[in-house]
Amino acid sequence: MNLMGLFRSPQNELEKGGKQLKNPQEEQHEITMTCPKCGTQTPVSELWDDLNVCRCGHHFRMTARQRISFLADDDTFTELDADMTSHDILEFPNYENKLKSARLATREKEAVVCGTAKVMGEDCAVFCMDPHFMMGSMGTVVGEKITRLFEYATEHRLSVIGFTAAGGARMQEGILSLMQMAKTSGAVRLHSDAGLFYLTVLTDPTTGGVTASFAMDGDVIMAEPDAMVGFAGARVIEQTIRKKLPEGFQRAEFLLEHGFIDLITPRSRQREVIARLLRLHNEGKQDACVQQADAGETKEAEA
Ligand SMILES: [Zn+2]
Repeated sequence: MNLMGLFRSPQNELEKGGKQLKNPQEEQHEITMTCPKCGTQTPVSELWDDLNVCRCGHHFRMTARQRISFLADDDTFTELDADMTSHDILEFPNYENKLKSARLATREKEAVVCGTAKVMGEDCAVFCMDPHFMMGSMGTVVGEKITRLFEYATEHRLSVIGFTAAGGARMQEGILSLMQMAKTSGAVRLHSDAGLFYLTVLTDPTTGGVTASFAMDGDVIMAEPDAMVGFAGARVIEQTIRKKLPEGFQRAEFLLEHGFIDLITPRSRQREVIARLLRLHNEGKQDACVQQADAGETKEAEA
């Protein structure tokens, strides 16, 4: 039993059950967003009512906390490792300033938010990457937080739901950011070996070292419509192979057609589909426990 929630007061707006969590820009003054697909201008508050999806179906990007607030049941989210922050270990030019402005702009300490929650009554661990924080790039802290979340989920027998959004590994942390690929994948493997379920939701954009590690390690890989998912950028590939790439290359629909992902789910249906997958797995887990207990009783009876 998780006693933490009983003695702990909410640490932030999201933990207080922030279903009304607003867009950070919205608090300053009502602004509109122009859809890059159909050109319609929609007030930010109206967009948020539709989970940041335009009437034409274009999915705007979301912050990590907005995603968790629409996914998790009210008052069920408990954040883990909230205070972990990156340091400029390699003294990379201008990195400290970039970190400061990302923290100011997003009010986040890092590019991923992790914790535990219930989705339509089903327990799970969840991480959400934030594309607004240095393009969701994976440095040592992002890698460490995700690794710790998988270790926590393995210990507490929880499924993991992970929303990815990243420009890749954080180049300002050099090799230390690249080693997060191996570290996170190792933690995913131990979670998988324990018979636990991991679902990834690839959102726009998921690229580089994140695609090459935990984003593609899911038992089920879901994507948002039209999300850009790839390793190297399309222009780099075209220059390297000296060929024109096909229409829609690196978009979710193209990846589904070519077997890289399992399903594309619009944002409005994600909560329901995720809950159904969690329920299927959690029921399976209970069945396995009953079978194990039955087998134990049979052995005892035979003895
Ligand atoms: Zn539109």
